[in-house]
This record gives sequence, C-alpha cells and structure tokens, in this order.
Amino acid sequence: MDDALLMPEEPAGGVYGAPRPAVPQRVPLTPRFGGCASGAGVGLGAEQGAGYRRLPEWLKVKLPGTGEYAETRSLLRGLKLHTVCEEARCPNLGHCWERGTATIMILGELCTRRCGFCAVAPGRPNGFVDHDEPRRVGEAVAAMALRHTVITSVARDDLVDGGSRIFAAVIGEIRRRSSTVIEVLVPDFRGHADDLKRVIDAGPEVINHNIETVERLHPTVRPSARYDRSLELLRRVKDSGAPIKAKSGIMLGLGEKDDEIEQVLRDLVAHGCDLLTIGQYLRPTPHHLPVAEYVHPDRFRDWGRRAEALGFENCASGPLVRSSFHADELAGTVRRGESSKAV
Ligand code: SF4
Repeated sequence: MDDALLMPEEPAGGVYGAPRPAVPQRVPLTPRFGGCASGAGVGLGAEQGAGYRRLPEWLKVKLPGTGEYAETRSLLRGLKLHTVCEEARCPNLGHCWERGTATIMILGELCTRRCGFCAVAPGRPNGFVDHDEPRRVGEAVAAMALRHTVITSVARDDLVDGGSRIFAAVIGEIRRRSSTVIEVLVPDFRGHADDLKRVIDAGPEVINHNIETVERLHPTVRPSARYDRSLELLRRVKDSGAPIKAKSGIMLGLGEKDDEIEQVLRDLVAHGCDLLTIGQYLRPTPHHLPVAEYVHPDRFRDWGRRAEALGFENCASGPLVRSSFHADELAGTVRRGESSKAV
C-alpha cells in the first residue's frame, strides 16, 4: 500500500457537478413511500398512512448501559467518529456496545440516497471528505482491540470514486495498527468495477453489500439501487480470486412473498455470496415505509436453515439480526459466545 493512497489531499477521484464549496447540506425529511424521482413505487405504503403497528414481544430490547457500553461510546465520541449503530437507530446498539463492538460509518453522516427503510439522514455532502478520518478510524479500532471490525459508509454518489479511496485508506490505517479481521459494508459504487477493485485490492477479509429486499420491491425500498447491480458486485468480489468472503443481507416484513425470498437466496448463492443475514424491517419514522408484517422468529429460523441448505457457508437469521450483528461469529472469526476482544 503506497502512502499516496493514505490521506489523499483532495477527493482524488474528484466530485461530480459544478465546482461548489465542499459544505455538506442536510435535506429535509419527507415521506419515502413516493419512490424515487422517476415515480417508480408510488403508492406502495402511502395508503397505509403513519400508523405504527404494535411491537411483538420478540422485538422488545432492553435499554443499553452496562458492560463496555460507556467505554465504547466515549471512545467513538472522543475520536469524532460516526456509527451506523446510531445513525440507523439499530435496536442492537446496547447489546453490541456492551460487547465492545460497533460499526464505524465513514464518509460522513449524510447519504446521497433515500432508501425507503433507512434512518440515515439524506443530504448533499457536496464533495466534502474528512481526510483525517482514516487515521482516527485506525486509532479507534486499535483502542477497541477488536478481533473483527466492521466499517460501513453512506452512499457518496457526489464523489467520482464513490468514496472507494477513503475505504482503501481506512483499511490501510487499520492494518498499520491492528491485526483485526476487517469487514467492509460497501455501497454499490454505482456499479463502477474500478471503485470496487480499489477496495478489493486493499485486502479486507469480508466484503458485505446488502441487497436488502426482493427484486419486485426495489423501486420503492431502494429507488437509487438496482437488484442486478448489487448481485453483480458480489460476483465481482468472488471473481476477483482474492481471499475475501462475500456477504449480503435482506430484511423481511416489507410485503415480500415466500417465493420471492426463495429467489433472492438462490440469486445470491448463484453470484458467489458466502454469508447472509436476515432480519426484521423496523420503521424508523412515519416518513419511512410502513411495516407490512412482523415475521415470527420460527419463520426466521426456517429461512436460516433454508439458506444454509441452498449453499450459504453461514447465515444469521432472526428478528433482531442486522448486517453486522455478531459479524465476528458469522464470519468465523470468533466462536459463538467467545469474546470479541483481542487478548
Ligand atoms: S444508501 Fe445506505 S445509508 Fe443511504 S439511504 Fe440507502 S441504506 Fe441508508
């Protein structure tokens, strides 16, 4: 890894659009069941209004506070780092932080996309890149002494390289300080193979890219993404020949049918996906897609077994499972119940 890649001065890949001050701008939250600007997906969910469905027992979690929760929190605050745990309002935050694990979110807190299920704030980052962030992430990971680290990011469609250089720099800075296993949860880089290759060449052990839902629901759930493009990304990871596991994840409860779930599992296996997470969609705000169904834990267990029967190396399936929930166990970095900490 040559230093030129670490801490590039300007967004080396450049910024799309007319030159403008690199000042991130939040955009107001508006209903997300109007689909994308093209109008695809209009109507789905809108008629169901803002009503929240009563949470079943199996989705109630206890408030965080014990274990390493406080240390994890102050460490991340001290290094001015964002986490998807907080930005996406993950129900497992307490559990994971008490375990001393957290998923660091790089490239800012404003996403250039507006997926119908996601609590991350939409905005216009306008090409702003925090060039010191890779160093701080490297320091945080070393300080957390994690055996398995997950790094994710918002979608940065404003950057010509989609943020892939910063991903590579972050992996480099972690490698300089820690022997942790590195998992990166990446956006689709708009299907640009060279951006993905930059991340592959940086050498993480796991590349995760969530396909999120079945093909039919993509226009509403992920209006700026494409089902086939996400599958292609996972295939490219496997076709690279690098010793990297490909991972993906889906949510249930958005109105998908069983045969559609079966199809997305088959498509993922056919595109070389090794690891899978299956979890329950939870509505972050009335602006987001309504929950069509709270799927019973028994059905999650059945889908987990089905996934492994179809050929996944490992699958975590349960109402509270999220992309990086117990990622260390799913990837085999640690055995179930073992500490997530390097001794
Ligand atoms: S691209 Fe990712 S961070 Fe952005 S809205 Fe969609 S799921 Fe959320």
